[in-house]
Amino acid sequence: MVTYDIAVVGGGPAGLSAAYAAAKAGGKVILLEKDESIAHSIRTSGVTWIDEIEKLGISSEYYNPIKNYSFISSSNEVTIRGITPKACVLNVRSTYQHLAMLAAEAGAEIMVRSRVTNVVTTPEDGRICGLKAKTPKGETVIDCRVVIDASGFSSSIARCLGIVKEWRRYGIGAEYECYCENLDHETWVLMVGTRYSEAGYAWIFPVSKNKARIGVGVGRPESYSDPLQKLNDIMDKKLRPLDGIGKIQPMELHYGFIPNEGPRTPIVYDRLILVGDSAGQSNPLVLEGIRYAIEYGRLAGNTAMKQNCSKEGLAEYEKNWKDKNQAMITSALRVQKRWIGLSDEEWNREIDILGEMSVDEFIDFIKAEFTIGKLLKFALNHPKLATRQLLGLVTRS
Ligand SMILES: Cc1cc2nc3c(=O)[nH]c(=O)nc-3n(C[C@H](O)[C@H](O)[C@H](O)COP(=O)(O)OP(=O)(O)OC[C@H]3O[C@@H](n4cnc5c(N)ncnc54)[C@H](O)[C@@H]3O)c2cc1C
Repeated sequence: MVTYDIAVVGGGPAGLSAAYAAAKAGGKVILLEKDESIAHSIRTSGVTWIDEIEKLGISSEYYNPIKNYSFISSSNEVTIRGITPKACVLNVRSTYQHLAMLAAEAGAEIMVRSRVTNVVTTPEDGRICGLKAKTPKGETVIDCRVVIDASGFSSSIARCLGIVKEWRRYGIGAEYECYCENLDHETWVLMVGTRYSEAGYAWIFPVSKNKARIGVGVGRPESYSDPLQKLNDIMDKKLRPLDGIGKIQPMELHYGFIPNEGPRTPIVYDRLILVGDSAGQSNPLVLEGIRYAIEYGRLAGNTAMKQNCSKEGLAEYEKNWKDKNQAMITSALRVQKRWIGLSDEEWNREIDILGEMSVDEFIDFIKAEFTIGKLLKFALNHPKLATRQLLGLVTRS
């Protein structure tokens, strides 16, 4: 039996960031990751925003900058052009390895190929007091004060305790990381409409000059189609805009699941915190979760180091998350509802509406961070009713 202050389940961005913060705050911390290395299996496309990710300490060596944003539908195409790059595509493996280095430097113990199989509770009052795990050193029992469930989509600790249900709405994505002969590496492309995905979209996200992630996402329960089959079809037929890329050679296959119904409630319990995808903290419009996982992983690690680890003691973490993100989630869900029901014809018109936006307006829209003040300014510049209505969906006071 080994005793820790904090045991973190999962070595994705949420878990690594929680372990880092808790160790930095002086805790004895262990992180368990079931895969044989950090970022061994990539389950994400790695798109994020430069200002947000740099605030979290991820510098330009870890990403490819993006300044233009293209949308392609069955018979329309729009590109919103920027002067400076605002978005980026992360080198996911090196970013997560960097987060792991930070956690290790701060003193966290990291165990790879270590799957947490159960939660240990006290016989007298059922309080969480540890974890059981299968590790390279054999079956291990870990004694701890607080567990951080950063196990991603599976919410494996909360599920083990029977306190959460399976996600009802979620996305599944399949993606090839490919050599691309002729790539515009400063432009990301989203392809919408049924030829690309019945309930979702396809994408090209450039990782470097000649490398891009090309993928398809499908939303359940609206569609039960297999995103990999759809992706293979798009690649085989070289559907637009792949026909302009020249030679495309896949080098890695990524596959992943992401909740897209907003956060679980609650996300704290006695001696337990949920963070990242386990808590449902991603933006449900574009399924962007990495920066939230890092930011709230750190907050979870810091909060877990406070003396009172009862549900009440940990509640400030949940409050902080909600205060900052509830409005974004509500706005994003409104646009998601609109987009999920669009026909091909409607998509052809919708992307014209997006094309009316300046790059900054588009970014606020896609991040679901539009304020009333910005909407009023926008209405003066672009008096088109359809555009005002679309932005109205994400506007908050
Ligand atoms: C197809 C797809 C594309 C995406 N694209 C983007 C994007 O472009 N930009 C963006 O910001 N977000 C994107 N996301 C979302 C983003 O990947 C997630 O929000 C983010 O990875 C959440 O981080 P996390 O640490 O919570 O979970 P994860 O990254 O899933 O990490 C969880 C870790 O826990 C481990 N684990 C699980 N169970 C156990 C167990 N029992 N014991 C030990 N270890 C365990 C897993 O192996 C995994 O390493 C995408 C998601 C998908 C599916």
